[in-house]
Amino acid sequence: MKISNYLACPECDLLLRRNTPVVGEKAHCPRCRYLLHHPRTDSIARTFALSLTGLFLLFPANLLPIVGIKVLGNAHDGTLWSGVMTLFDEGMWAVALVVFLASVLFPILSIVLSLLISGHLYFNRANRHLSLWLRTLQHIDEWAMLEVYLLGIIVACVKLASMAELKFGLGLTAFVLLLLVTVMLASNFDSTLFWQRIEQLNSHEKK
Ligand SMILES: [Zn+2]
Repeated sequence: MKISNYLACPECDLLLRRNTPVVGEKAHCPRCRYLLHHPRTDSIARTFALSLTGLFLLFPANLLPIVGIKVLGNAHDGTLWSGVMTLFDEGMWAVALVVFLASVLFPILSIVLSLLISGHLYFNRANRHLSLWLRTLQHIDEWAMLEVYLLGIIVACVKLASMAELKFGLGLTAFVLLLLVTVMLASNFDSTLFWQRIEQLNSHEKK
């Protein structure tokens, strides 16, 4: 019995013989119906292209003004970063920290790790850190929440709309595009395939 031919269902621990479904098919656990594997078309190439796009969008999304506010003649441009700093200055450091992690640090780490991993797999380059990177990526993705920040921007804009003049900046466009890219990254990501390729590359390297 070769151990890599078997897998345990992550939900109910049922031991199953591994079989790889083709693109468009799904593999469910027969006992609890957990979705075991859902192959995507060109997952590695698409992840590589999307994370490269995301990397370029990170700069304008983080540095350009998201929204400009004009109250009584005083104009103020708000960037993602100045939002975090304002929260911090107001003494809401715990909120500032959560916003910083969920909307700045984790999205950046997630895109950089996706790019590193898919780049190595796309160009067939082995690296002993690949497993660590993929494991980290899968944990970070549970915490990267750009959409929460976007909801915050919308709520703030609706509240401010009656008392101030609002101007949406290029940063917001980049931010929305970045959000779309992360959603597309998630829907094209085939973790089973990534783990299999990492295993193949690293076992080749050892020989
Ligand atoms: Zn199961």
